[in-house]
Amino acid sequence: MTVHQQLFMNGTWRTPAGPGLIDVESASTQETIGRVPEGSPDDVDAAAEAASCAFESWSQTTPQERADWLDKIAAELEVRAPDIAKTIAQEVGSPLSMATSIQAGLPVMVTKSYAQLARTFQFEESIGNSLILREPAGIVGAITPWNYPLHQIMAKVAPALAAGCTVILKPSEIAPLNAFLLAEVCESIGLPPGVVNIVSGYGTVVGEAIATHPLVDMVSFTGSLRAGRRVMALASDTIKKVTLELGGKSANVILEDAPLEKAVGVGVKNAMLNSGQTCSAWTRMIVPRARQDEVVDIAVKTLQSLKVGDPMDASSRLGPLISGPQRARVESYIQTGKREGARLVAGGSRPAEFVRGYYVQPTLFADVQSTMTIAQEEIFGPVLSILPYDSENEAISIANDTIYGLAGGVWSADADRAMQVARRIRAGQVDINGGRYNPLAPFGGYKQSGVGRELGKYGLEEYFQVKSLAR
Ligand code: NAD
Repeated sequence: MTVHQQLFMNGTWRTPAGPGLIDVESASTQETIGRVPEGSPDDVDAAAEAASCAFESWSQTTPQERADWLDKIAAELEVRAPDIAKTIAQEVGSPLSMATSIQAGLPVMVTKSYAQLARTFQFEESIGNSLILREPAGIVGAITPWNYPLHQIMAKVAPALAAGCTVILKPSEIAPLNAFLLAEVCESIGLPPGVVNIVSGYGTVVGEAIATHPLVDMVSFTGSLRAGRRVMALASDTIKKVTLELGGKSANVILEDAPLEKAVGVGVKNAMLNSGQTCSAWTRMIVPRARQDEVVDIAVKTLQSLKVGDPMDASSRLGPLISGPQRARVESYIQTGKREGARLVAGGSRPAEFVRGYYVQPTLFADVQSTMTIAQEEIFGPVLSILPYDSENEAISIANDTIYGLAGGVWSADADRAMQVARRIRAGQVDINGGRYNPLAPFGGYKQSGVGRELGKYGLEEYFQVKSLAR
């Protein structure tokens, strides 16, 4: 059991203002595996003071110096990758193999990418008689969720640091242990005090204190639509810059000439990644009505090939859901799907073999209509809906028929045709015929999936103020 009694701020460990600790539970054993401080507004005050003090000098460092620090962070995260993977496999329930490649691997890759970008990015340019400066936005409050916890942290901390900002991080209270590993990394490399400060705690307390704090210039939030709306409203009082990475209900549009085995197989695996707890998951598979039966057969076969099991077992492809409330929420959506008339073709209940852990069978619904709740709301679990269509235009209109617009896929034997369809989908990133994940490409949502972009140079640009000097 890992117990953290102190918070990391101003380069050192500080006893929090209050005595409370938050229990961290294993998703697979339901045992308490750690405790972290229940931070308070007083702790946010102290972190903001530290970040504000550090900003004076950090904002004046050269991009090259900041790149060197980011390389040191990346190198140390890499050394600790096995520990990070194991920690996240326990607290989130991600299978260890996936936790190693994605949960621990991606933060290293992203941090290195920002070191590289800081070295090459044009921080200044001339427009006519004006010199345009990209200056750090200031003190950044980063509020992050639990599903890809360290990736979501580094997708904010790395560009913020590269830009010259200092950070107050509030990690998810449900999977916070990985953030303390980052604190240890910052401490061990001797990152200047106050550049990264971490206040664990509840969203309604620590998160809201960050969103309203007068010293915080910008809030970068990733999480649910509900909390994102609240953060944006609270931040408006002090006119903070706000970026939001929220939920999704992404569409995988399979055109009638698509290679069906591949399109359905990749689509099912995408929807089930991290037991469906992925904001960009393609949770709606939009298929030609005449081919729905074939699609269902392939999808069921693919689901059967994904072993549900203990995250620590190397052969598991799907672990449990993160928590009891999360499982209850997913099960309630499954009941709603059945009640509203969707056809349950696989899964739908808890796998019988587990007495502990928040497991749910990978679940497939067919004959789903766009008006149904399970086609509209983010479920955040291993539940895939198949929606049949009769024409290409109808497929596109179904794809666009939600309040979200985060991601999507399009499949066709004709790549140009797939591109044309992808252009008509109102979402931040669309994969053509299973296009490979690109960690340098911008990531973010249209509509109520968010505001702003993360990753690569577009992610960096969020952390600037722009100044023009007329000469
Ligand atoms: P959540 O909104 O409950 O929590 C996210 C973070 O916000 C946590 O740190 C939480 O403590 C904090 N928070 C909660 N209420 C707050 C408030 N009133 N004020 C300030 N902070 C508050 O979300 P979650 O359950 O941790 O994560 C799942 C959600 O995140 C899903 O909706 C998912 O789609 C979304 N998500 C989006 C992306 C993306 O990039 N678009 C990535 C991952 C997750």
